[in-house]
Amino acid sequence: RYAIANNMSLGIYDSSIDTHYKNIISIASNFGYALSNGNIKVVYQNIYDPKTGKIHGVELLARWVTDNHNQISPNDFIPVIEKTELIGELTKFMIDTAIDMAIDSDSEDTILSINFSPKDFKKETIDYLIYNIKDKNINPRKLQIEITEEILLRGSEAFCYLELFRKYGILIAIDDFGTGYSSYQSLAELPIDVIKIDKSMIQKVSSNTISKSLVKSIVDFCQANDIITVAEGVETKEMLDTCNEIGIDYLQGYYFHKPEIIYKNEKASS
Ligand code: C2E
Ligand code: CA
Ligand code: CA
Ligand code: CA
Repeated sequence: RYAIANNMSLGIYDSSIDTHYKNIISIASNFGYALSNGNIKVVYQNIYDPKTGKIHGVELLARWVTDNHNQISPNDFIPVIEKTELIGELTKFMIDTAIDMAIDSDSEDTILSINFSPKDFKKETIDYLIYNIKDKNINPRKLQIEITEEILLRGSEAFCYLELFRKYGILIAIDDFGTGYSSYQSLAELPIDVIKIDKSMIQKVSSNTISKSLVKSIVDFCQANDIITVAEGVETKEMLDTCNEIGIDYLQGYYFHKPEIIYKNEKASS
């Protein structure tokens, strides 16, 4: 609003700014309806164990599919709803899906991973997660919560919730590792089990020797500190080979599996 007012006062009217703000307003005002109308879908992407070739876990990711089958990328709507209370509704929906999958899955040890925004570190959302784990008798060790380093800005309340996850045995993963400016600081300050090395680093790992040695130093650090490593964005055989050479524990990316939609089988009982 400020930008628009500013430009107009100069007598300049920038319609692209106008469109930008209209999009934000339209996302924020339509998301709640989209969620209740079934337009928000969940996709899953497998994470592999290169030592066995088996699936180690799955990450759940949100998709907005409009009535005319257009897909709005989470990169477009998450940053908008993250600033509102709507993010909590999305996160509960992802929790529901993860819990359903945990009940349905035949494999006791497939990790189910969901993304939490900094705003999800509030009582209501955390209570919802813990209540459902207990109520549905889920093994908390099957669940992994992916957080970003932005959590450091949330202060002590967020830390308490991370400790609570610890207590239950819910796995904590740092997402997009290597993109923040305080990466190693967050390692010292947060109780974490897993580091997901950002795809921007992985995609250069086989072509750029500096990137390769950076990733190698992250992995060495993690191995010395009992932290599990995951490479995200593995797209080619070359990247796969380099990741294996470095000794990254688990691999995720289009080379193995593209996110695919989850069709909820309607259960008579629920
Ligand atoms: P993210 O958590 O880093 O998720 C990984 C993203 O990388 C996903 O994008 C995934 O589809 C994509 N990806 C996976 N493998 C490859 C690959 O080999 N190459 C490339 N280029 N990309 C790959 P997606 O699904 O578009 O999600 C984008 C971001 O939106 C996510 O990044 C996450 O930050 C956010 N997001 C998605 N779903 C949720 C959610 O339910 N809650 C929250 N808080 N954030 C979400
Ligand atoms: Ca993630
Ligand atoms: Ca990531
Ligand atoms: Ca991300």
